[in-house]
Amino acid sequence: MKPHSERGMSFTTGEIFGEGSAGRSGYSLPESGIDRIDPQSVLPQGSIRKTMSGFPELSEPEVIRHYTRMSQWNFSVDTNMYPLGSCTMKHNPRIGEAVSRLKGLVGLHPLQTDEDAQGTLKLIHDLGRWLCEIVGLDSVTTQPAAGAQGEFAGLMMVRAALDKRGETRSKVLLPDSSHGTNPASSALCGYGVVTLKSGADGKIDLAELDRLMDSQVAALMVTNPNTLGIFESGIIEAAKLVHDRGGFVYCDGANLSALLGKARFGDMGVDVAHINLHKTFATPHGGGGPGAGPVCVTKELEPFLPTPVIVEDNGVYRREWDRPDSVGGFHSFHGNVGVLVRAAAYILSMGPEGLSEATEAAVVNANYIRARLRDHYHIAYTPRCMHECVFTDKLQNKYGVTTLDIAKALIDRGFHPPTIYFPLIARGAIMIEPTESESLETLDDFIDAMIDIAQTAKTDPESIKNAPGNSVRGRLDETAAARNPRLRCGLCG
Ligand SMILES: *Cc1c(COP(=O)(O)O)cnc(C)c1O
Repeated sequence: MKPHSERGMSFTTGEIFGEGSAGRSGYSLPESGIDRIDPQSVLPQGSIRKTMSGFPELSEPEVIRHYTRMSQWNFSVDTNMYPLGSCTMKHNPRIGEAVSRLKGLVGLHPLQTDEDAQGTLKLIHDLGRWLCEIVGLDSVTTQPAAGAQGEFAGLMMVRAALDKRGETRSKVLLPDSSHGTNPASSALCGYGVVTLKSGADGKIDLAELDRLMDSQVAALMVTNPNTLGIFESGIIEAAKLVHDRGGFVYCDGANLSALLGKARFGDMGVDVAHINLHKTFATPHGGGGPGAGPVCVTKELEPFLPTPVIVEDNGVYRREWDRPDSVGGFHSFHGNVGVLVRAAAYILSMGPEGLSEATEAAVVNANYIRARLRDHYHIAYTPRCMHECVFTDKLQNKYGVTTLDIAKALIDRGFHPPTIYFPLIARGAIMIEPTESESLETLDDFIDAMIDIAQTAKTDPESIKNAPGNSVRGRLDETAAARNPRLRCGLCG
């Protein structure tokens, strides 16, 4: 194919618009008065194109087919089951997409006056009230754009409250099953991290907590249910122990899908908790966002909320900026409003009974998988699970097959791999979260695929170790791929 220049397609502005038309079209080259620089004199010789050959030239249908084909290589919750533990990959109802695109919401500029923005302010205020009701706490900020940022905001409020009391504390206590963002947020807040070793039952060891909880501990940071999918049944005693010694209890609420309408953080003695709207409240996520990690707090922590806070007086909403004890802003205005709208739509369309049923289905689904796979995969911890279950590769190791191999073999069988090698305390963890979205038929298909992998691991382990064979790309050297990526179009080779 001939390059553009040989086909007479090079042009100047004058040729398109006619000389002197620049003013009318608004398209003109700047009259800078600076001498033109010859590119040959400034660019490195190796970077200067000598010929135009090899420059791809494609028709519109070819381009459309290329990108459509690439989009079909993607895996998503819309194409098949996505059992990524701890990530709660629920169905994203289309009503959430429809309302988050309503003109009145997306057309609003954040600098418009409160008077102009009453609808959006009411929506965010209502959502905040519902979230507080769901987790049993008093006040909320919707600003943080992710769970991790929520943790940071929450711990900053704890620090501000301690400062106000005239106390400086230096560390945060974290169970060894905690998500990696927990120690990271603690460190970002200037706290040292002390790890609490979990008991043999996978829960917080209260004796260990009693031993480590001293006057230097600002907060205990727990996840409930924890990342093994086990409910922390000792949470009320744990919270009492922490409060008696002047600390706060932070709850990582990423696993709230297991508790909707059933149990509330506030009733467990929690002072501050973040919620991952992009997990529990059905918003598209993966690939890095956008998300929303609202933080709910007790009355005691309310003065420290980030600004602005939305307040209501007699049905009129306004943004309050003048809050002297506030920890400041974490995101412009109220965070990712589109995500807040989707979460509000999910809550309203489900209703209180619907949310409670969603939790029941999520928990039953996880226990069904756990019960049907327990003869085929080793279970790390014995208590019954909540909304996710954790297996390991212990039985498959005998045949040289690892968790990574099992995850790759699932790709060949049409499923997204589960979360693997997390939580760290379950060696070779395979963490499966089906969510409430999956039907019994889909769960059975997934279970059959997992059983097929377990059986093939015994009879033909090489085929599992070389998987995937049916995907666009085969097994990658993940270290080399991360260190030395080949950023090339899949079609050009
Ligand atoms: C997802 C998750 C987080 C972090 O949330 P992001 O929104 O990804 O920042 C924290 N803790 C747990 C247990 C999680 O599953």
